[in-house]
Formats: sequence, C-alpha cells, structure tokens
Amino acid sequence: MKKLTGRLKSEHDTLVSMTAIYCADHHGKQADPLCSACAELMRYSEERLAKCPYGQEKPTCNNCPVHCYKKEKREHVREVMRYAGPRMPLRHPWRALTHVYDKLRKVVHPRELRRARNRKRVENKKESA
Ligand SMILES: [Zn+2]
Repeated sequence: MKKLTGRLKSEHDTLVSMTAIYCADHHGKQADPLCSACAELMRYSEERLAKCPYGQEKPTCNNCPVHCYKKEKREHVREVMRYAGPRMPLRHPWRALTHVYDKLRKVVHPRELRRARNRKRVENKKESA
C-alpha cells in the first residue's frame, strides 16, 4: 500500500484520533490503543484514502459526493464521527480546527469540475467588466 501524504495523511491522522476517543469510551481500555474492529476500520480507511479519486483535492468524507465506503464501514465511521466530533476541540484543538476549515471548502463532483471552472471564468469576466 502506498503511504498517505499531505491532506490524505492528515485526514487519516484525524480519523485515527477520533477513533481512539470513540474506541476507548465504547470498546473499553485495550493494551493497544484500538480494539481489533476499530484497527480494521483504520486499515480500511487508509486504503480508501489511498484510492481516493480526488487525491490531494479531497473534500472531507462527509462532504464527499463519492461514497466509497462499504455500508458496514460507513456506519462504523459515522458512529465514530458523531461521538468523537464534538469532543475533538477539547483533545486536539488544532486538528479539529483544520478539519472544520476543510469542511468549508467547496466540493464538486469530478465530472462537474470542468463545468465549474468555466463558470468561474465567466463570473470573473463579468466582475472585471
Ligand atoms: Zn473499538
């Protein structure tokens, strides 16, 4: 598996931090930070991120128009987000902040990208006129 870099890596790091919060409170204290189900989810998410068609332009997952997770994994990760999301600012303030900032980025489906760029060119022309 290729190693994640840049935005993909920070997204995965954020997810690992969130999963650690969720796992400790729901699956009990382990010798390892994550239980086997959560560790498996992390391996799965790393693999999905590595294959993300957006690459470094990736939107946050809950903003993404491409649903690449299997149903069961998606439910697990959604549980993690719902529980750990509001708790992140306390434990990882900087990470939580950059994640919020990321959510504000506009998300466009890959096939819409070109159309959006063309629209922008027209808008810019109008403004400068
Ligand atoms: Zn767990």
